[in-house]
Amino acid sequence: MIFTAKLLSSERITPESSREEVRRLVFRTDNLYFDSKVGSCVRVLAPGEYGNPYHARLYSIADSDQSDDGAQFEICVRRCFYIDDASGEEYAGVASNYLCDLKPGSAIKFSGPVGYPFVVPENPNADLLMIGMGTGIAPFRGVIRTIYEKQGGWKGKVRLFHGARSGLEQLYLNDVNNDIGNYFDQPTFKAFQAISPHPAFNVPAALDQALERNAAEVWEIVNGPDSRVYVAGSTQMSDMIAKAMSNIAGTASVWTDKRNQLVAAGRWLEVIY
Ligand SMILES: Cc1cc2nc3c(=O)[nH]c(=O)nc-3n(C[C@H](O)[C@H](O)[C@H](O)COP(=O)(O)OP(=O)(O)OC[C@H]3O[C@@H](n4cnc5c(N)ncnc54)[C@H](O)[C@@H]3O)c2cc1C
Repeated sequence: MIFTAKLLSSERITPESSREEVRRLVFRTDNLYFDSKVGSCVRVLAPGEYGNPYHARLYSIADSDQSDDGAQFEICVRRCFYIDDASGEEYAGVASNYLCDLKPGSAIKFSGPVGYPFVVPENPNADLLMIGMGTGIAPFRGVIRTIYEKQGGWKGKVRLFHGARSGLEQLYLNDVNNDIGNYFDQPTFKAFQAISPHPAFNVPAALDQALERNAAEVWEIVNGPDSRVYVAGSTQMSDMIAKAMSNIAGTASVWTDKRNQLVAAGRWLEVIY
């Protein structure tokens, strides 16, 4: 089913001085059939090129509010450029530039939701481990807001491990935005930022090292009775997490078994792109 949504606001959340432009876009749809959940994705149907009706790309829902008369949802979009191998010229990514250039009041077409949402468990004592890189941190901001603001608090441990490629660092902890910083006074919340060993060379943040430095707590959460692990970000990040978790677990096979158990129980939820 194809839905339409109107753009309510578009705001840059990386500082003007940053090389990377990431924008927070808030949309509203009046269609009651669209079920927006943080962590699942919408497939945005940007206008197509070369005779194609659409250029479809996925964006994960960073925040959502479902009401009786529709849904309001937020996505965070990184403006992408790429170098054409043949010509060496730089091209603007179609969907990300279409979205970043969109003016409030304009309408988009989209379908979805796609993928598993980051469901917050009913038990407020459950420990939550969130691991995100780049724009992957966006849905975690939605989860954190949900548990501390909409649900009024959380008794279990909430641990956020986040890192970014060079230029995207501190997506929600910069001069323009300090959203995550607002939760540092919550007794159950802690955030750990992984740093890139060589930011000038675009080397990704060492999420693996951040996890391993906190091995005992990470392992305790993973083994907690009702805990959840939420993972969002790049495929590169998946390898780092597997490496760190294998070290924390002792061996790769112990970690694979544990991860499989978590997946089977619906306690491991990931959006990888
Ligand atoms: C499950 C899932 C969730 C996603 N969630 C988000 C999200 O929340 N926010 C977000 O900004 N993006 C997200 N993406 C990526 C998004 O779907 C697009 O791939 C991205 O915006 C580029 O699309 P485009 O049409 O602008 O580029 P295109 O016109 O498709 O250009 C493609 C070229 O751009 C490069 N490229 C494609 N994707 C990326 C990328 N992510 N980073 C750098 N270069 C890239 C490649 O070299 C490729 O050749 C997600 C992807 C998936 C699969």
